[in-house]
Order: sequence, then structure tokens, then C-alpha cells
Amino acid sequence: MQLTCHHLPQNDGRCGWYDTLPSPPPAVSLKGEVKADWVVLGAGLAGLATARRLAELQPNATIALIEARRVGAGAAGRNSGFMIDLPHDLTSHDYTGDKSGDREQIRLNRGAIDYMRNIVKGHGIDCDWREQGKLHGAVEDLGQRSLETFAKGLTALDEPYRVLDAREMQAVTGTNFFQTGLHAPGAVLVQPAALVRGLARTLPENVSLYEDTPVHKIEVGKPHALVTDQGRIQAPRMVLANNAYAAQFGQLGLKGRILPVYTYGSLSQPLDSEQLAVLGGEESWGLIPANPMGTTVRRMGDGRICIRNSFTYNPDISTGAKRLAHVHAAHRRSFETRFPMLSGVELEYTWGGALCVSRNGGMPFGELAPGVFSAVCQNGLGLTRGTISGKLIAEYALGIESELLDIMLKQPKPACNPPEPFLGMGVRSTLAWKEWQAGREL
Ligand SMILES: Cc1cc2nc3c(=O)[nH]c(=O)nc-3n(C[C@H](O)[C@H](O)[C@H](O)COP(=O)(O)OP(=O)(O)OC[C@H]3O[C@@H](n4cnc5c(N)ncnc54)[C@H](O)[C@@H]3O)c2cc1C
Repeated sequence: MQLTCHHLPQNDGRCGWYDTLPSPPPAVSLKGEVKADWVVLGAGLAGLATARRLAELQPNATIALIEARRVGAGAAGRNSGFMIDLPHDLTSHDYTGDKSGDREQIRLNRGAIDYMRNIVKGHGIDCDWREQGKLHGAVEDLGQRSLETFAKGLTALDEPYRVLDAREMQAVTGTNFFQTGLHAPGAVLVQPAALVRGLARTLPENVSLYEDTPVHKIEVGKPHALVTDQGRIQAPRMVLANNAYAAQFGQLGLKGRILPVYTYGSLSQPLDSEQLAVLGGEESWGLIPANPMGTTVRRMGDGRICIRNSFTYNPDISTGAKRLAHVHAAHRRSFETRFPMLSGVELEYTWGGALCVSRNGGMPFGELAPGVFSAVCQNGLGLTRGTISGKLIAEYALGIESELLDIMLKQPKPACNPPEPFLGMGVRSTLAWKEWQAGREL
């Protein structure tokens, strides 16, 4: 079987998380013929966790981790930095689903946070790791109702939370924009590009990381062979950790079941001391919109503000300058409605990034063909989902059993989508309708 990577990772705008870090040392890219015991495709959260876990469990094995760009330049370094422990179903109106499914999601997500915490603390990775939980903010009636349902769901799950009124929301965020809020303590906030670069820097010695190495073709066989610009790598076992880019692999049954969807972030210039005084509020916080289609906001300890909103269906897994300009204007509006007192503050960076979602929230986790394992499709929750699916796919491939792995294996497989052009029409109209419904939450 031969898989062709028609859509390779592109530069989807300047990402502030990545660009405000010091430049990384030069990349090592793949050149010539290389053999390894394992090859992992994609060094995002799932690929980094897979490679690390394989190396921990098999210290004598050779593991090659291949990344088309620099680590942190892809979605793993472009997200809003919320490591979310609670259910986060983007297709629902309040993030929750059924109770037993939600409990299992929580166990998986907390498994990821525990694993990541040990790595970050153990290696002293400087990624602004903050165990401060997340706020949910509501602006309108619909948002407030979603928040109430979310709170009821948390009560039923015995999960702690605190409801905040408008005055308390202003005390934290500095703005009087939010009518009500809810604080849930379990989420961790990070600087995502710093996190993944730190993870890459501290990989065990038996992992070879090849960056700036796009894979054009995969020959699935015994062994598998991955063909790149200047080389070729062979390994008997391969793990797909290329998330949205796996949606092009029809032969493995992924095309038509998992979908590349984009979302977008902007980072402001740092506020000066006068602007910080005018804004008020706490030094660092992260806010998720009550309506999943609304606007995520973070205030960083260095005085920058991050805005995230807008979802688009991008089947060719890239975005262009025109779309980014449109999104920049949308982010500007969202910024101004929330922070009218900061009218002179520029959004210095605007970028897009690819999520991978399925219609029913399912994942194609497991062995898709002999020696081909999959840890793709995080359904928008890659910081926790990507991490745990990477760790568990390594354990699964090595036959190591655990309760968390049983939970992962019980998750539904991604549902089949209608064919194009109906799929594209359906996804685009659903996104547009839901965004319209989000109203001022956007
Ligand atoms: C703006 C934005 C905000 C977000 N906010 C959050 C958030 O707050 N919390 C959260 O949990 N999630 C968030 N997400 C989602 C999260 O970023 C993704 O779910 C996560 O990155 C998925 O991790 P992954 O390792 O599975 O895939 P990716 O991070 O996409 O990694 C896949 C890697 O594979 C590489 N690759 C693909 N094809 C090839 C090829 N042919 N050759 C070589 N390499 C290849 C890519 O370059 C990429 O680095 C957000 C995403 C965006 C864009």
C-alpha cells in the first residue's frame, strides 16, 4: 500500500507563541538512508508523547521522530495553551456529554496532565506552567444558559467549581464585558510553543528527531518506508501522529471520517504599565467562552493578551493571507468589545492552525494496518488528548495493559461523513450557523 502526502504542513501566519521565543538551534533533517525500530510521523503533542513513551519502555530501541517543520511551528505550538481536564465537546452547546463518557474523558485528560507535569517539572521546562484552572465567561442569555447546564453537569460529576458574578469577573479580567462566569480549578495553562520545544529538547537519547523533513510518500509494508526530500527511513513499526494531515489517507479508512478544521489565534503587543493600570484585574488568567463557538481570551504574565476564535473547514489543510486578514479583523473586533479601554493596543501576530475533528468525537486509535498505529484526531483538545493518545498508543503497541488504555480503546471510532460536495456544504453551513448563534460571545 502506498500513501501520498498531497497536503504538507504550510506556514499559516506568524504565530506569536513561537516568534516571541529565542530562535532554536539549527535543525537536524533526514539525509540518506536511515533504519530504525520505530518511526513516528509528526512531532506535535501526540508524536512527542509517543516517541518519549516508546523510548522509556524500550531504552535499547531506535526511534525516529519526523517533523515537516520546526517543532512548535505546527498546531501543537499554535494553540491557546489550555490543558483541559474536564469534558470539552466542541460540538455540544455546553461542552458536556453523557455522564459516564464524561468521567472517562476526565480520567484520560488528568492522566495526560499528570504525565506532562512529571516531564515539565522533572526536566525544568520553562513554559509558564500555571496550575490555575480556567474561567468560563458568559455575555448573553444563551451563554448564561450554557454555563448553567455546564455547572449542573459538573455538580452531577462531583467536580468542583465556583460561580462568579459580573463584579467578580471584572475583578479577575479587568473588563465589565462578562455578565457571569465559572471557575473550574483543574486546567493547567502553558505557553504552548515553549512547552513543545522543551519536550523536544528533553527527549530520551534513543529518539532521533528529524525536523524540516516533510514526508512525501509512505510505503506501507515490511518494513515501512517514508520518503522525504533528501532521504528515506525504514522501520518495521510506524505510528501516525500527523493529526489533521492523516485525513488524506483514504487507504487506511481515514479520509471521509476525520476532518481538518482550522481555528485562529492573535497575540497583542505587551501592555505598558499605564495600559496595565487602566485594565486592572489579575496578572494571568485564561477564559473559555460559555458557547464553544465564542472567543477564548488569555492574559499572559508578560502583559500580552491572546484572542482565539473563528472555525473554518480547510480540506487542503492550509490557510491564505486573505483569510488571515479577515480573521485579524474579527479578532480586533472581539478585542475591542472586551477591552475598549485598550483601543491603542495592536494585535501583533495572527495565525491559523489545523485541528482534526470527527462528527461523533471518535478517534481512530489503534492498529490500522499491520505495524501501522494511529494516535490522530484529538477533536480540538490536543494538549491533553494528544498527549494521552501518544503515551497510550506506545503502550498499546508494546502490549502493556492499563485501565486508561481500556478507556481509550472503548472510545468510539470516527463516524463516516457524507461525500463531497455535501460534506463541505454541511460543515461550512453548520459552522456559520453556530457562529451566528454565538452572538456577542464571539
Ligand atoms: C488557535 C488554536 C487554539 C487551540 N487551543 C487549544 C487549547 O487551548 N487546548 C488544546 O488542548 N488544544 C487546542 N488546540 C488544538 C491543538 O493545538 C491540537 O489539537 C493539537 O496540536 C493536536 O496535536 P497533535 O500532536 O495530534 O497534532 P499536531 O500538533 O497537528 O502535530 C502533527 C504534526 O505532524 C506534522 N506533519 C504532518 N504531515 C507531515 C508530513 N507529511 N511529514 C512530516 N510531518 C508532518 C505537522 O507538521 C505537525 O507538527 C488549538 C488549536 C489552534 C490552532
